[in-house]
Amino acid sequence: EAFLMATFCPTDGHLNPFLMTDAYYQAAKRLGVRFHFFENVLEIKSENNKIKKVVTDKNEYETDVVVNAAGGFAREIGLMAGIEIPVYSEKHEILVTEPIARIQGPMVMSFSKNIYCQQVPHGSFLIGRGDPTVPHDHDITSSWRFLDLMAKTVTEILPKIGELRVIRQWAGSYNMSPDKQPIISEAPELEGFYMACGFSGHGFMFAPMTGLLLSEIILKRKPSLDVSNYHLHRFKTNKAYETEKSVV
Ligand SMILES: Cc1cc2nc3c(=O)[nH]c(=O)nc-3n(C[C@H](O)[C@H](O)[C@H](O)COP(=O)(O)OP(=O)(O)OC[C@H]3O[C@@H](n4cnc5c(N)ncnc54)[C@H](O)[C@@H]3O)c2cc1C
Repeated sequence: EAFLMATFCPTDGHLNPFLMTDAYYQAAKRLGVRFHFFENVLEIKSENNKIKKVVTDKNEYETDVVVNAAGGFAREIGLMAGIEIPVYSEKHEILVTEPIARIQGPMVMSFSKNIYCQQVPHGSFLIGRGDPTVPHDHDITSSWRFLDLMAKTVTEILPKIGELRVIRQWAGSYNMSPDKQPIISEAPELEGFYMACGFSGHGFMFAPMTGLLLSEIILKRKPSLDVSNYHLHRFKTNKAYETEKSVV
């Protein structure tokens, strides 16, 4: 009764982000990539508008290429390089229920009801909503307000799921851009500085293509897709840009 109509996309899929991130990590290591964990980038140094060095709390690295893929902290990393990136961070909360036998097929999402809800393979439901009242900052604490509002929506439109116990709730940052589309580009004013940020809540599913496109941009090859709409400079022109509406 809560729904008037719905669309179904048979080619949609889902992936476990922990497993996928680990798979990329293992594959990158096999290809010779070196990882430096628990190391904070503090400064990015340039000379004559070219990237020169990254300074961390543990080391200094001479380099001529830096990729700003700092998620919720992309704006701060940009400022270290003297590049103004018009993105901000916004808390989004989510919860997981106890597992039950499969009752739901595809993920259910409603923009008007402010909910996405998916039963994952082992039977738990992942349920989240956005909160237009949260400030633009780095807060990722969990709130009673989220639990309260989420429970109200679920019991109204998915009453069976409303009977389940909540196992855990957590929060993370969406890195939001003005048009809610990613920024995948070089910074023309600073040679060697590249950006993959502003994913506005969609960065996981865009990750494989983003990696490919950015590697092509860095290697000065023709990108597999036209990425001109994702250039940082779109926000500096007077041209109207299209805002992505499907963000919960
Ligand atoms: C609740 C929730 C649900 C979501 N659901 C989906 C979904 O269903 N589908 C989807 O596609 N996306 C989803 N997203 C969005 C997705 O998680 C992000 O877009 C994606 O993780 C961004 O990846 P990233 O690699 O750009 O940034 P991150 O994964 O945030 O990685 C950035 C890294 O940079 C590091 N870093 C930052 N500053 C520094 C510094 N100074 N020095 C060193 N390291 C630094 C951080 O520690 C972090 O490891 C969701 C997000 C949230 C919060």
